[in-house]
Amino acid sequence: MRVLILGGGASGLAAAICAAKAGASVTVLEGSRKAGRKILASGNGRCNLMNAGEPVYFDGRSFANRMLSAHKNELISFFGQIGLALAQEDGGRVYPATGRARDVLDTLLLYAERFGVTLLYEKKAAGISYGTGPDSLPRFSVICESGERFDADRVIVCCGGMAGLNLGHDGDAYSLLTGFGHSLVSPSPALVAIETERKPLEGLNGLRCPARLTLTRKGKIISSASGEVLFSDHGISGVCAMQLGSEVTGTDETVYIDLSPLFFPEDRAYERLSPPYPGLTCNESRVRALLEERKDRLGAADMLTGLLPGPLKNKFSRLSAAQAAKMICAWPLQVKGTRGMENAQVTRGGLETAEFDPDTCESLKQRGLYGCGEILDVDGDCGGFNLQFAFLSGILAGRAAAAE
Ligand SMILES: Cc1cc2nc3c(=O)[nH]c(=O)nc-3n(C[C@H](O)[C@H](O)[C@H](O)COP(=O)(O)OP(=O)(O)OC[C@H]3O[C@@H](n4cnc5c(N)ncnc54)[C@H](O)[C@@H]3O)c2cc1C
Repeated sequence: MRVLILGGGASGLAAAICAAKAGASVTVLEGSRKAGRKILASGNGRCNLMNAGEPVYFDGRSFANRMLSAHKNELISFFGQIGLALAQEDGGRVYPATGRARDVLDTLLLYAERFGVTLLYEKKAAGISYGTGPDSLPRFSVICESGERFDADRVIVCCGGMAGLNLGHDGDAYSLLTGFGHSLVSPSPALVAIETERKPLEGLNGLRCPARLTLTRKGKIISSASGEVLFSDHGISGVCAMQLGSEVTGTDETVYIDLSPLFFPEDRAYERLSPPYPGLTCNESRVRALLEERKDRLGAADMLTGLLPGPLKNKFSRLSAAQAAKMICAWPLQVKGTRGMENAQVTRGGLETAEFDPDTCESLKQRGLYGCGEILDVDGDCGGFNLQFAFLSGILAGRAAAAE
């Protein structure tokens, strides 16, 4: 069985190892000069490669959940088979025990080589056709941008998504599968920083603090998330802001920043909140009472000193206790948009999952053709869910493609 894999990222390398281990002759066509570039960039160089907790997916939720509920153990045993020691941290986040993304990639490349996988670089696939070869047998033919042609019995498309500056494709890879009648759900950036009005952020660049964020559109609550927010000159980032960034459309939206978790550590819940959302100003009366008490004890000028980080204290120092409490609990910032696909970690949208088999990732439009990883319309939360889906879908596709 000749298996051709398009893309040497997380899903492509997992697929290559599993197909080769099952006895197939495997070639990976990688469009760029290096394999696994997103693996190296992931988790700030530490590679948060899976999550031990309940799955949290947004688009493609039922497809991903079904795959994980049936096959998650196979992912754990895959890492075990290639000898990658893992370590679990808060929130079920799983990293390589060495703490280095480089070791994940090196291990994958080592095993690909050991099982005889041929990895070819700068072979960007431009089209796939299916027909009868000169020997009258049906086969796939992949044509590369360079004009080179590769024939195979099975093709697995693992070209990833559009997210990440110079790390994703520019949308053209989707046509490898839409050419076979697959539908494309319009791609948009997910897990991405939010751009807001800039004036109120002056002096805050680089400041981090615990917060609860609530995104509203036309006054209606869309989503809410807690965690560490990072202020910049153009908006807010940090995991919780990036989670909300996935929901931003840029029309009539406001993000409310609740800074009260600064004073009430028990409110520093780092998990994504699910409906019903807390009120925008649920802590306002507590904060106001705290500020009134401090004003009486320390004086109005120092009510916020030592309580808020300096740059925030300066911003709110001219307000009364009541006004400051309101701002601290629901500081509204007008949303301008997101930092775009080049700054996103994941693509929302991609190939419609209903057109693939969740047990094998085989196309339901064309037998012998597979799609896995981020090219499909699956996006998960921060915490290892995206690499987890990429690896597992690659494992299933590789193994299925190698079978007669
Ligand atoms: C900065 C950053 C940090 C991240 N951190 C995490 C994290 O900690 N945890 C997590 O779960 N997820 C994280 N992600 C997301 C995760 O990296 C991706 O979801 C995952 O890599 C997707 O795997 P994939 O195999 O589908 O695609 P990729 O890993 O992107 O691999 C696709 C490969 O296909 C190649 N390619 C593209 N087009 C073609 C073509 N036409 N022909 C041939 N080759 C082609 C690309 O060059 C690439 O090598 C992060 C993403 C970014 C950008």
